[in-house]
Amino acid sequence: MTTADDLFLGTDAGNDAYRKAVSRASEAVVEAFADEATPYSGASPGSHDDRFAAVDPLPDEGQSLAETVEEVGDRVLSESVGVSDPECVAHLHCPPLVPALAAETAIAATNQSLDSWDQSPAATHVERRMVERLCELFGYGPGGDGVFTSGGTQSNFQALLLARNRFARERLGRRVKESGLPHRAKSMRLLCSDAAHFTAEQAAAHLGLGENAVVTVPTDDEYRMDPEALDATLADLRERDRDPFALVGTAGTTDFGSIDPLDALADRAEAHDCWFHVDAAYGGALALSETHRGKLAGIERADSLAVDFHKLFYQPISCGALLLGDGDDFDLIRRSAAYLNPEEADLDAPNLVSKSVQTTRRFDALKPYVTFRTLGRERLAELVESTLELADDAAALLADAPDFELLNDPTLNAVVFRYRPEGGRAGGGRGDPRSDDAERVGRLNAAIREALLRNGDAVVGRTEVDGRTCLKLTLLNPKTTVEDVAGILDAVRNRARTIEVAETALRR
Ligand SMILES: *Cc1c(COP(=O)(O)O)cnc(C)c1O
Repeated sequence: MTTADDLFLGTDAGNDAYRKAVSRASEAVVEAFADEATPYSGASPGSHDDRFAAVDPLPDEGQSLAETVEEVGDRVLSESVGVSDPECVAHLHCPPLVPALAAETAIAATNQSLDSWDQSPAATHVERRMVERLCELFGYGPGGDGVFTSGGTQSNFQALLLARNRFARERLGRRVKESGLPHRAKSMRLLCSDAAHFTAEQAAAHLGLGENAVVTVPTDDEYRMDPEALDATLADLRERDRDPFALVGTAGTTDFGSIDPLDALADRAEAHDCWFHVDAAYGGALALSETHRGKLAGIERADSLAVDFHKLFYQPISCGALLLGDGDDFDLIRRSAAYLNPEEADLDAPNLVSKSVQTTRRFDALKPYVTFRTLGRERLAELVESTLELADDAAALLADAPDFELLNDPTLNAVVFRYRPEGGRAGGGRGDPRSDDAERVGRLNAAIREALLRNGDAVVGRTEVDGRTCLKLTLLNPKTTVEDVAGILDAVRNRARTIEVAETALRR
């Protein structure tokens, strides 16, 4: 036996070590993570710093894997945020499905790389088939195509990269890939709603257009882009000789889960010859559900759409896709490298590198493949539907509680609210953000969230409405019940009272 024999797959010793290692790791996950009673230990950033300061991550001599796994169980797994805990409801951060975890194990061990066919022969075709099926799910025609991405950030960036290049080529006669930005790029404008994800601005910055190229369109009282406001914005841009080149609609805003009127947006994009991108990172999962897919009507008219599987499709991070209505648009960024996809490459052996902004790329498509084949669309849809029902129940609880103020009527499963002991229902709406009271309530809610996390009671989200902090339940977990939600609200009340008592004592 050479010294590497039990370190790699492919020998009896290596295969045996692999089985033991995987089973050891999964035991540690169950014991130190999955069986935890609270969503978080409550440990502070400082205490994590101290704990890891004592460890040398690159010692001269190692130890047994058993020792390392045990150490990781104690120091890392048990101190992780409990994404599978019913009271972990802060972010679009899902509990991963067990079939997907099995797929993840196979993805790591087979280590296929999706950039070239010779590094991922079967995997390339699984991804292509998966993309084809996803295009069909979202209503794209046979010309559709797509690629798996690391998530919404990458999908949105790549979509806007294609949009920029198409506009420059078709309208300004400039090939940006070869020649860089045209002079007139200074007047290019990207439109999205004021509730859109920050990655629209980030992409504009990366694309050399600058964040100021993003023009936000006002939303209605349900945080959806207002088509009339969009018309006014477009007219204003034309008047000032600006070039609106892309319109981003959001299907599931990160804070409120609201869905822009996609059909109305598609009409405007068409009329103004803009690239229409739909950021469905969050809401894309509604396409699975016969009951809810109508909320995405118009998405099939998008030039591109972003969907995240590591949110409402319950896949482990990372897993997303960018889909295009017309796959030929990938030509706008295509390049060839002699070692991966030379110009004369055999077309029967597709090299997906030409569709991606990544080179070496994970076989993430296997996760939804294994999940979908195992659960089927209907069962997956039921999981998603149950969380939308829970969000409605949670909103009803909040609306009935005199000490809470409900701030949205949930479209997906995000519920935004404030603890507001004196008159939660006063005025009913967003309240007057300028008053001292609003200021105080904002501070109190920020402190409540912090206290819940530090005490390990619940992990709830925060955001701002009218410039003031509010709390948010992102009810992604199908195991969370309305009783869990009631328990979280009680924990909010209890923390709030403790904070208020402490503040009163300080003032004395
Ligand atoms: C999460 C999210 C993103 C960012 O996606 P990542 O997967 O985190 O990169 C973009 N847009 C929306 C609407 C999102 O919810």
